Amino acid sequence: MNILVLGAGQLARMMALAGAPLNLIVSAYDVRSGDIIHPLTLQPLGHGLNTAIAGADIITAEFEHIPADILHQCEQSGKLRPSAQAILTGGDRQIEKALLMQAGVANAPYRVVYTQADLEKAVDALGAPLVLKSTLDGYDGKGQWRYRDGDDLHALWAELDAFLSAPEQRDGQAIIAEAMIPFDREVSLIGVRGANGEFASYSLTQNHHHDGILTLSVVRPDEHALQTQAADMLEKIASALNYVGVLAVEFFDVDGSLLVNEIAPRVHNSGHWTQQGSACCQFENHLRAVSGLPLGPTDLIQPTAMINILGQGSVPLATYRDAHVHWYNKTPRPGRKVGHINVTATSNAALATKLASLASYLPDDAFHGLKSAALALA
Ligand code: ATP
Ligand code: MG
Ligand code: MG
Repeated sequence: MNILVLGAGQLARMMALAGAPLNLIVSAYDVRSGDIIHPLTLQPLGHGLNTAIAGADIITAEFEHIPADILHQCEQSGKLRPSAQAILTGGDRQIEKALLMQAGVANAPYRVVYTQADLEKAVDALGAPLVLKSTLDGYDGKGQWRYRDGDDLHALWAELDAFLSAPEQRDGQAIIAEAMIPFDREVSLIGVRGANGEFASYSLTQNHHHDGILTLSVVRPDEHALQTQAADMLEKIASALNYVGVLAVEFFDVDGSLLVNEIAPRVHNSGHWTQQGSACCQFENHLRAVSGLPLGPTDLIQPTAMINILGQGSVPLATYRDAHVHWYNKTPRPGRKVGHINVTATSNAALATKLASLASYLPDDAFHGLKSAALALA
């Protein structure tokens, strides 16, 4: 079966790797250039959306910032999974927030901001501090601003206004003003839903960020109360979207209660650990779900952590001995995700020891949070 992935990055690449044993052949469509490419070699395979759609049995996506006309054309072919609506929801925070309200899952209080008056009303209603986010195109903490008590609201509006009225700005761009949540930590859940409504989820993951970018994810297999809460919220969202495929949900943990931060209608960076931590990884399960195969097991097989490789073209040789290294065949640029390292162990204590060992030779300034995570696990 031929599966076309909209988007030609590392997620398409890892789907291709996971699909090969099942004869699920993945090609990638670069939505900007219109090129169809081989997701591993990046060699061109063809050009144009019509050609791409014609050659596919199933179409899916590796990111949510895809122009609506492309999604609708794919949907008309009857091959797109999840739906255009589900992908568009993940790509527009305004639609996403409305969905979270409709699905009845807790999330940060918010207002939509188009004008200075809206911004003032948002501060009146929500107080300070606030997080302000562009509704379209945000990722890795890009397209975000902060407002704290005492900050100059006019200066902030001047920045937001310049952003919203830039000539290259996409239609429909707005700002979501959100109450800043004083969370204890951030966790995420990766779930998968089959076309028949069959649903499964992986173990809860704790996530660490630096400068808005995910640096480290650690599986939290023993948090049964939070796991149940998260799975229940994810399933509500998936049902509301009549979702097919892998769906990721990011949460804030506030004293044992979860609030949804955002959703990603796709495989997700915080689920890369499933490649070594689970019998059937998120990439394989996504392909199974969208191509109508039974879902694979999501049970945790061993404590696992995932470390992002940001902007580094190489890692010390010892890393290959101590862990599983996954490169994305990307040119390193500062802060760019070019690979990840999965670390597995037989127990949480052994995982802490391994993380501490990696922290002793991976450079601190490139691999943030490793030492503290090892200490927290020990
Ligand atoms: P991603 O790369 O995960 O898609 P993104 O650019 O879509 O990131 P968010 O996940 O919404 O952005 O926000 C990035 C980070 O900013 C969050 O992981 C969290 O640390 C912080 N953050 C976002 N919203 C809030 C909030 N309402 N309260 C507190 N912190 C927040
Ligand atoms: Mg996001
Ligand atoms: Mg996020």
